[in-house]
Amino acid sequence: MTGIYPVLKINQVKLVQNAKMIVELCQNHHIQVAGVSKGVNGDVGVALALKEGGCQQIASSRIEHLKTYKAIDPNWPTLLLRIPMISEIEEVVAYADYSLVSEYETLNALNDAAKRAGQVHKVILMMDLGDLREGFFDDEATIEMALKVEKEMAHLCLAGIGTNLGCYGAIKPTVENLGRLSHVANCIEMQIDRKLEIVSGGATSSLPLLVSGKMPQGINHLRVGEGLLLNMDLPEIWEVEIAPLHQDVFILEAQVVEFKEKPSHPVGEIFIDAFGNRPTYEDRGIQRRAILAVGKQDFANEEKLIPLDPSIRVIGSSSDHLIVEVDGDRALKVGDTLSFRMYYGPMLHLATSPYVRRMLI
Ligand SMILES: *Cc1c(COP(=O)(O)O)cnc(C)c1O
Repeated sequence: MTGIYPVLKINQVKLVQNAKMIVELCQNHHIQVAGVSKGVNGDVGVALALKEGGCQQIASSRIEHLKTYKAIDPNWPTLLLRIPMISEIEEVVAYADYSLVSEYETLNALNDAAKRAGQVHKVILMMDLGDLREGFFDDEATIEMALKVEKEMAHLCLAGIGTNLGCYGAIKPTVENLGRLSHVANCIEMQIDRKLEIVSGGATSSLPLLVSGKMPQGINHLRVGEGLLLNMDLPEIWEVEIAPLHQDVFILEAQVVEFKEKPSHPVGEIFIDAFGNRPTYEDRGIQRRAILAVGKQDFANEEKLIPLDPSIRVIGSSSDHLIVEVDGDRALKVGDTLSFRMYYGPMLHLATSPYVRRMLI
């Protein structure tokens, strides 16, 4: 095996299969899926796989990603996840078909920019159902703003409303809070005398409601990233299995630069590590240890990396080194490579690190 390490390998076939599974599950409940690519730095191969898997829109938090997709295919529906900055309003109108919005000033700026561009821009008003990230906080404020957009902002189209849960406030999507979103959507629809295109009920963390058959009527859209890309959170945190979703779409391969037997307890007076912490160590005698050439700068948190080889245990890292322990009879040599699955955090960082090669397979 030749190549430059470390490498983040992305299995396109498995990713398309994951996307198809989630899209089909959602379709059975009359729900559209926006595939979310922000966790992989907007990787184009990933975005194309989500498209192939049937996701109705491609969504990211960064306008740069959406710009790339529009350059590939101007007809690819794009959705901006982070509420827009005033300083990027022109780009939002140019590259996002839909944006999530929670401020009157932003709506006004979008309306003006769309007018200048001779376009109509679609907005999804965000409602904060208690998670305390973005959104109008009460029903009346949401409805009032929806009516303003509908009646006063000629260059905006009120595509719908949406919410975000399980982020800052770690609030669980439930029949009650998503029911409220659906109710507000109903109120708006009555007053504007048409159906809203989108009632967006959250992200991966809303899938358990769907699986248990409890998703409130009227929710017709979700924005899914983690569940499609990694599927680590649903089985572990939510105890929901959407078998057979792959958990190994993303694999980190890194190269061994040292393999030696060493004590498991540092020798000398333990003081402060490279990050200002005062760590403790368990003495498990002499162990076989390997150092890999990849570090916190690339993956941020080694505890969220999972070795594919069960005889390998991650024990620590520094900015540029990952240290693993190897079971007794397993021998490694310098130049060998080890592979890891991962949770969301390492995926986000690995996909953003200029020192990690990304490879679609
Ligand atoms: C990141 C994000 C999502 C996707 O979240 P996952 O947990 O990866 O499914 C959806 N909506 C918004 C607004 C986001 O910022």
